[in-house]
Amino acid sequence: MSKKLIIPKQIVTVDNDDNIFLNKCVEISNGVITSVRKFSNEEIKSFSGEVINAENLTLIPGFVQTHIHLCQTLFRGLADNLELLDWLQQRIFPYENAHNKSSLRSSVKLGINELLLGGTTTILDMGTLRHQEVIFKELINSGVRAFAGKCMIDINDLYPTFKESTKNELDESYELAKTFHGKNNGKIKYGFAPRFVLSCTEELLIETGQMQKDFEGSLFHTHSSENKKEIEEVKKLHNKENIDYFNSIGVLNSRTVLAHGIHVNENEIEILKNQKVNIAHCPSSNLKLGSGIADIPKFLEEGISVSLGADGAPCNNELNIFTEMRLAALIQKPFHGPLAMDAKTVFRLATINGAKALGLGKEIGSVEVGKKADLVLMNLDTPLLSLSNDEENIYSKIVYSAGRNNIDSVMVEGEWKVKNSKSLLYDEKELRATGESELSQLLNRV
Ligand SMILES: [Zn+2]
Repeated sequence: MSKKLIIPKQIVTVDNDDNIFLNKCVEISNGVITSVRKFSNEEIKSFSGEVINAENLTLIPGFVQTHIHLCQTLFRGLADNLELLDWLQQRIFPYENAHNKSSLRSSVKLGINELLLGGTTTILDMGTLRHQEVIFKELINSGVRAFAGKCMIDINDLYPTFKESTKNELDESYELAKTFHGKNNGKIKYGFAPRFVLSCTEELLIETGQMQKDFEGSLFHTHSSENKKEIEEVKKLHNKENIDYFNSIGVLNSRTVLAHGIHVNENEIEILKNQKVNIAHCPSSNLKLGSGIADIPKFLEEGISVSLGADGAPCNNELNIFTEMRLAALIQKPFHGPLAMDAKTVFRLATINGAKALGLGKEIGSVEVGKKADLVLMNLDTPLLSLSNDEENIYSKIVYSAGRNNIDSVMVEGEWKVKNSKSLLYDEKELRATGESELSQLLNRV
């Protein structure tokens, strides 16, 4: 049995009482947290397993990002200053269409590396149209916790070569779900991923909603209500706004994750609430594409599930939960006042709320006995952060001031992925060199 004992300065538990513990240790057996308590010096000395002396570090739960496109990491910086439909038509669809297996593998590794170095241990990925098995294989090799699924596109007026038949999309998704759902000791789960209303037939959306029910614990993951022009097009096609349309075809429930939810009318807020739909809020992407600002305080007030995601590297241009947390807080304050989106609320969105949105609220998202040891050690004792050791100040430090450079170590289910701020998985020079070469070949194929 593999055992570990972490002795941190403090533990930000994110449990129901928001406990912050000083002088307590976390014991891990076979990837599960088995105790969170004080250990005597004797117990520590006689502990049979790895003892991690982290007296200057703060232990937090691993971050959860509920909307990511690993296949786009290679395209970072190549699609700036565009709005959604142009961004898709001129850059992102042509680039995704040009992926072969090796360019996709390179993109996925770059993304996973960045996410882990930044303390993100669980993601929901949107996948891509072709070679989806490559994404699953790299997720499995890395050991991160992930929901992923083949991105489904069966109509595409923006870039017609980037689509497949409805039958192909449904059959391939079903086969992939059969193969990968529950893999890697349950760390991999399937997230059915129709891209968005404008690239999916009604048949595809309805059948996908049905198929999702065949795989317990899987998700229905799509984009919605991101951009005003997108909504005008949806209205032309279906005579309804985006969420209203999804509701009318019966694909909304507690297993649905909708990325964005910016342009949402009052009726649609009721739908989100009644159907217990999860919103993945992506503030950087929403600002950079000029899409707008989702009314997150209103959603939270209504009890709607909200979590955070960086979206893809070319609309951000980071996959950095610290940027998303900081922006999620700051962009609301001009509208709702400085009390809106306090640091503790935002930290919960990035941890336990993300876990709950994925249906993993009992497994991850907090530091509690019985949960999987998806954990992050942060160095918050630097001269660049607040000098106050007041309990509530910890959230302020993490959300408003800290960043990826404060991440010391990261583990997923008890296995170290990052130590001393260095990846244990990838050689960064090799990642960079392969990425450069794959990108230049891909651009020649476009
Ligand atoms: Zn997206």
